[in-house]
Amino acid sequence: MGLKEYKAKRDFTRTHEPTGAGRSRGRSRHAPSFVIQKHAARSLHYDFRLEMEGVFKSWAVPKGLPTKRGEKHLAVQVEDHSLEYGDFEGTIPEGEYGAGTVMVWDKGAYEMMGGDPIGGLESGKMHLALHGQKLKGEWTLVRMRHPRDGDKPQWLVMKTGDDAPRLSARNKDKSALTKRSLEKIASQNTAQWRSNRTSKATLTKPIRPRRTRRALLKADRTKLPAAKPRFVEPMKCVLSKKLPIG
Ligand code: MN
Repeated sequence: MGLKEYKAKRDFTRTHEPTGAGRSRGRSRHAPSFVIQKHAARSLHYDFRLEMEGVFKSWAVPKGLPTKRGEKHLAVQVEDHSLEYGDFEGTIPEGEYGAGTVMVWDKGAYEMMGGDPIGGLESGKMHLALHGQKLKGEWTLVRMRHPRDGDKPQWLVMKTGDDAPRLSARNKDKSALTKRSLEKIASQNTAQWRSNRTSKATLTKPIRPRRTRRALLKADRTKLPAAKPRFVEPMKCVLSKKLPIG
């Protein structure tokens, strides 16, 4: 499913979803959404995002959400992200914040049980019901302690309620948007996120290595693995101290 198609679909479901519980500020009246992005950056982790007050409150969860009742995983609260970013699946170029490959691993609506989202966030305890494509059921996030200056708040995400059904190996590396694996998202390289641009996601044509007939024949003879399209850093404008001469 393409991004455009997906966006159209999302808007459709949003307008028909029941109003979220509690006060929702702003004009939007829909169940708040959550997204989990699988992110192969310097290290592989999952970014868990909850829509609150027009942004995604975000946690980096190295091991992903636990599935067995009573299990706890570390979740480090990170910068808020734009709602637009929640739909992003593709690559982030080298040298940019979060450089690597991003998959929309799961998405759906969530409810804050027994309170409104912001109240839960502020109190440091959030009992959530997730209604995702993969994850359904209850989880609880608890803030461990108030961070010292400059530290990121550390939370624990716990599986509460029942065990979540086990995911198949295939599902563990399958996009909720496009069914692609991380490897495929990286190799196809059809969308890039440039955090330093005003237009957020730029669609690029898949980059394919140029291969001559001779190179192909040679590759065949030497039994080299077929070359995968590799990430090629796009050329950027660079500030120069000197004016061009002439
Ligand atoms: Mn991340």
